[in-house]
Amino acid sequence: MGLIYLNGELVPTEDAKISVYDHGLLYGDGIFEGIRVYNGHVFNLDRHIERLFNSAKVIGLKLPLSHAEIKDAVKKTVKANDIVDPYIRLVVTRGVGNLGLDPRKCANPQIIIIVDKIQLYSEELYKKGLDTVIVPTIRNHYEALNPRVKSLNYLNNIMAKIECVNVNKDEAIMLNKDGYVAECTGDNIFIIKDSELLTPPMSAGILVGITRNEVIRLAKEMEITVREEALTRYDLYTADECFLTGTAAQIISVVTIDGRTISTGKPGEITIKLLEAYRKLIYSYTGDE
Ligand code: PMP
Repeated sequence: MGLIYLNGELVPTEDAKISVYDHGLLYGDGIFEGIRVYNGHVFNLDRHIERLFNSAKVIGLKLPLSHAEIKDAVKKTVKANDIVDPYIRLVVTRGVGNLGLDPRKCANPQIIIIVDKIQLYSEELYKKGLDTVIVPTIRNHYEALNPRVKSLNYLNNIMAKIECVNVNKDEAIMLNKDGYVAECTGDNIFIIKDSELLTPPMSAGILVGITRNEVIRLAKEMEITVREEALTRYDLYTADECFLTGTAAQIISVVTIDGRTISTGKPGEITIKLLEAYRKLIYSYTGDE
């Protein structure tokens, strides 16, 4: 049985409970991070905590712990759970309030750390690549709820996921309000065209993925030209390769989009090279015990 970190205590999963008056539940009012551990090292922990603090700042939530204290809590929870290469879900809710929206009624943000396994896509899909669809639901407008905030309100993404499930596809690609490619429901998107790596810029209204940034860095190291620029459906359909990135998914190939086969219909050569480089990076990482 796993142990969950809940406001400073490690408690068995069945005792890890929060109030039905928590605004995290009532309104999706809170923030989170998804983090991975490889060979006992928490991968890019500082960057995740930095992003958490930025999300907190934007939604006006004052975290009750310092950066260093949250890091310690994460590492302590990983140690308390004996799982090989686990996934960490770090959640901060606004806390208990009343039935109104006013966040001033919520005095105590709740900090929850879950350490568990995750598998977003089957092994078979990693080999074969994903069949995807561009869905009608657009990504949140950045002046409504900026996708850079990793908020507990994921309904925008869930709507997109439903639209992809309804047509029996593996993943949904979301456009932004201007019709340009944004991202997927829980991953960033890249294409390869004429040996260059292209991905939507931050201004497209996306979560700025930590994996995305690592892949950009690795590609530059491999002397691949990288351009962050607005992409259309046309760019996706005519790409030489396409793949998604995320902490949980790592790098996974996309082989069809709206019924158009991407190149040969098999995971591309550069995608495979980047995945190998990424796996090498994560398994040689020693940044945090
Ligand atoms: N976009 C969205 C909407 C996400 O939820 C995530 C994380 N699951 C990502 C992109 C990828 O971000 P990261 O590489 O930091 O995990």
